[in-house]
Amino acid sequence: MNSNGSLIEGIVIRAYGGYYYVFDGRQEWECLLRGRFRYENRQVLVGDRVYLKPRHGRAGVIEEVLPRRTVLVRPPVANVDQAVIVFAVKDPDPSPRLLDRFLVVVHMNKIEPLICFNKVDLAESGRIELISRYRERYRVVATSARSGEGLSLLRESLRGRVSVFAGPSGVGKSTILNAILPGLNLKTGEISAKLKRGRHTTRHVELVALPEGGLVADTPGFSSLDLPDLKPEELAGCFPEIEAYQEGCYFAGCLHYREPRCAVKEAVGKGLIEESRYRQYVEFVEELMDRRRY
Ligand code: GDP
Ligand code: ZN
Repeated sequence: MNSNGSLIEGIVIRAYGGYYYVFDGRQEWECLLRGRFRYENRQVLVGDRVYLKPRHGRAGVIEEVLPRRTVLVRPPVANVDQAVIVFAVKDPDPSPRLLDRFLVVVHMNKIEPLICFNKVDLAESGRIELISRYRERYRVVATSARSGEGLSLLRESLRGRVSVFAGPSGVGKSTILNAILPGLNLKTGEISAKLKRGRHTTRHVELVALPEGGLVADTPGFSSLDLPDLKPEELAGCFPEIEAYQEGCYFAGCLHYREPRCAVKEAVGKGLIEESRYRQYVEFVEELMDRRRY
């Protein structure tokens, strides 16, 4: 409650037909928006932190929306703290390149990553090496949604945060969500992957409260994460090693892409910047430039 004692703070956990359902840490409120939001053209998203004024029963009116820390675009969720990036140790084999892309995009969205290596029941010793390599730099959990191994550790890592699940399809995101959010009943299995995608893009995203505290988006639909709305020239700031060399570029606004006399490309040529990181950077530059053409 705030200082005047009559407002309650909570998080919007779902929105349907003009109603916003707000969780205050203990219970849910069915809220309408104060009328001025409409003519101020302000949108309220799932994940928004709000102040509501209680009315009769569990009904209320949203009076104020607190500033957003982050916004994901597809599906739209505000104030996500953590992205659980799920990869399988096998079936499908993990792609370090794709995992790195997820990590960079999560970082750009100012969200903390938690890597979840699932299907450890299928692991051979070789895969453990991959897990320990990422453990050096990131928080990592190893799970098997099939045997239940690691799931309590995963739940522990969700406590007190707003989390979304992301990762390629077939890695077990739906199976894990079903296991940790009882009653959810997402469809699983590769065969339904196409159907599933269609369903999740039309479905509304919801945040589900865990008994231990913490909220989880109930969709495995984040099979890719969107780059935030950056200018191509801002990208280098997300790659410290590229930023470190760009002062030597001939052109002030060098994108380290097609420009001549580029110190970054020279550093890549000399092996001072990892080739794979530079390729990742170029991939993002191209994506952002494509976006600007429309
Ligand atoms: P999603 O596309 O990431 O949501 O993946 P699904 O949850 O649909 O899982 C894809 C397939 O992997 C399904 O056939 C699951 O039964 C299977 N699967 C999920 N988790 C595990 C696991 O931990 N071990 C094994 N062996 N199979 C799993
Ligand atoms: Zn350059």
